[in-house]
Amino acid sequence: MNHYDALIVGGGIAGSVAGRYLAKANLNTLIVESAFTPREKPCSAIQFKYFERIIGKKIPKEKLCKNSLNRVCMEFPNGKSLKMPFPMLNFTRDVFDNWLNQIAIEEGAKFRDGVRCDDFKRINDGFLVSLHPKHEDIEKVKTKYLIAADGLCSCLRKKIRPQDYTESNPGVTLNYYFKNYNEGDLNSNTLYQFWNINYSNLMFAWAYKKNDQWVIGTGHTDNVASRCDKLVDYIRDKYNFNGEIIKKEGFVSKFCLYDPDHVYLGNENLFFIGDAAGLIDLSRGLGMDAAALSGRYLAKAIKKGTKKNQNALKYYKKYMKKTIKKIKKNSEKQIKYLESNEELQYYLKKNFLKSGLYTYFGTVLNKILPISKFILLPY
Ligand SMILES: Cc1cc2nc3c(=O)[nH]c(=O)nc-3n(C[C@H](O)[C@H](O)[C@H](O)COP(=O)(O)OP(=O)(O)OC[C@H]3O[C@@H](n4cnc5c(N)ncnc54)[C@H](O)[C@@H]3O)c2cc1C
Repeated sequence: MNHYDALIVGGGIAGSVAGRYLAKANLNTLIVESAFTPREKPCSAIQFKYFERIIGKKIPKEKLCKNSLNRVCMEFPNGKSLKMPFPMLNFTRDVFDNWLNQIAIEEGAKFRDGVRCDDFKRINDGFLVSLHPKHEDIEKVKTKYLIAADGLCSCLRKKIRPQDYTESNPGVTLNYYFKNYNEGDLNSNTLYQFWNINYSNLMFAWAYKKNDQWVIGTGHTDNVASRCDKLVDYIRDKYNFNGEIIKKEGFVSKFCLYDPDHVYLGNENLFFIGDAAGLIDLSRGLGMDAAALSGRYLAKAIKKGTKKNQNALKYYKKYMKKTIKKIKKNSEKQIKYLESNEELQYYLKKNFLKSGLYTYFGTVLNKILPISKFILLPY
């Protein structure tokens, strides 16, 4: 039977970053990914430039989309809009995650795709884990550390904390992909944000371009499809955009991601990172930065725990404290608590200057601050 120091379940961002840094620390590390790679994942895949510092690598140009995003156009509930320069990273998750997997492999981690893990048992010196390679027999392996990086629908999390999942509808995200379009007045280098609770009561609705496809989407707790249709009509009308929908992609999670008290980092040598830990931040609409950060911090914690012969969870909790505090604080600012566009307009007006300044200075500071002092943006 194979025996690993660390077994990571999930080869997304959190899993790949953790795997790479654990292998770098000379731990015998296996990452198992249930999908065959490169795999797609519902995600806008837009991030701040500081994300490169968190993952510890500059993203090569060929791993980014052909069109860069360097401007934001915010459209407010009162119909007014504001355009500003704003450099972002724009990529697709199949290409990007596959690149991260390769980096982990180059660093010495073993990577197996098409292998699902959904069951484990604690044993004296770690865990006995069941692996299900597609179309093959179940295998058993042993590991000292078990790391759940299996995303928002984490089955490891469900196994040990079923209470963190809900039967109620926490909101649905929907994306329409367009081809054969006439771009009209839309600009390929701009991220369009539509702040209007008729379209989205989770954050803003969006439009952006990924390579040769335009994407228009939104998230709402109620009737998301008809809201997305209305948004598309609005964009067609206002921006003279015309295009053929080639794909509709929905995403719903039964995970209680609205409740920040459900952030959970693990117990003993079982750890949770990324979305599986509940680190997605709905008020920022982002999760990839916290996912990468948690993977990196966990590797650091395990390294330190091993050196000091202490449980790594203590260090992992300590390193994650600031990020979790921010996610909890942000959750109080979610616009789902607002009831009308008038309230949203007031809220945006009240916070705009503070948020803009904070984001501007945060962007500058993140270029020089050590990762442990990073400011997650936007404010
Ligand atoms: C619609 C949408 C748009 C988003 N847009 C953005 C954005 O623009 N910017 C941003 O920063 N964040 C965005 N996010 C959030 C972001 O996608 C997540 O926070 C991020 O992907 C979390 O990374 P992760 O590694 O924790 O999980 P994931 O990326 O979900 O990776 C988990 C991996 O685990 C695998 N897996 C699952 N179960 C098992 C199993 N049992 N065994 C083995 N493997 C398993 C999955 O196949 C997957 O590859 C968006 C999310 C959604 C839903």
